[in-house]
Amino acid sequence: MENHNSILAENGNGAVSEQGRSALIFLGTGCSSALPNTMCLLQPSDPPCQVCFPALSIPPNLNPNYRCNTSLLIDHCEGDGKHSYILIDVGKTFREQILRWFTFHKIPRVDSIILTHEHADAVLGLDDIRAVQPYSATNDIDPTPIFLSQFAMESISTKFPYLVQKKLKEGQEVRRVAQLDWKIIEEDCDKPFVASGLKFVPLPVMHGEDYVCLGFLFGEKCRVAYISDVSRIPPTTEYVISKSGAGQLDLLILDTLYKDGCHNTHFCFPQTLEAVKRLCPKQALLIGMTHEFDHHKDNEFLAEWSKREGIPVQLSHDGLRIPIDL
Ligand SMILES: [Zn+2]
Ligand SMILES: [Zn+2]
Repeated sequence: MENHNSILAENGNGAVSEQGRSALIFLGTGCSSALPNTMCLLQPSDPPCQVCFPALSIPPNLNPNYRCNTSLLIDHCEGDGKHSYILIDVGKTFREQILRWFTFHKIPRVDSIILTHEHADAVLGLDDIRAVQPYSATNDIDPTPIFLSQFAMESISTKFPYLVQKKLKEGQEVRRVAQLDWKIIEEDCDKPFVASGLKFVPLPVMHGEDYVCLGFLFGEKCRVAYISDVSRIPPTTEYVISKSGAGQLDLLILDTLYKDGCHNTHFCFPQTLEAVKRLCPKQALLIGMTHEFDHHKDNEFLAEWSKREGIPVQLSHDGLRIPIDL
């Protein structure tokens, strides 16, 4: 990156001097089926898929094309030096993400959870939240606040009735399950909420024309927008996060599914880059990629694009940690 004051240029390795600073940690940057795509390993083409096949020989921590379900961890450091850990989405690959990135980045717990929507790649790891909670055989612990829309709440009540149920029925044995404090949020840019001391503005976006997914805007010193699943940004949301509207974002984290063409429920590369130009953030990082994206190759292309357009954009990768003042 040419701009040495940029967030991307400051990306460090968690040095001691950054102990008192907030950070964003990309726990997952892939699509719903995650990468490597299993079919590329089970029935390899000739020649084999250059993005997925190397996963058989390169360890995941050295392979930026190894992508779990999209998820972001906000390490929020408040003025008193106290850290709180806010998790956005808990997908199918959550346990692997704990094993790899919670340990590597020394994340001791989760203080609050925010859900973008109720699709499998955003919620199917909720059972494993107990793995980041203190042990109690009788479930006698403080529940973790979890923020979600009414629509997501209804879906999760069906998917995980035992995580929602408040009291045991007569004769029902106690079993250890994740303890969650469900908090309904509005799908409305004008209805912010606070999680672990940090204010979040919901950013309703279309994820297919029949479905609303939430992105989130957070941070006061640096304004960050996170939009993981989007096919269209409605004008009210676009206003809140665009330079020509409520003000320029410091960082936009945005969905991109396939390299070419378009898709009915996600942005693909052309729409993603178009949206970046329109919103004009100081920088952007892309998430949600399928195996059509090859990390190093496509970041070379993006480096050229960034020079031309004046907005630094890169593909993110699992485990990426960005120190930031929120
Ligand atoms: Zn592949
Ligand atoms: Zn989805």
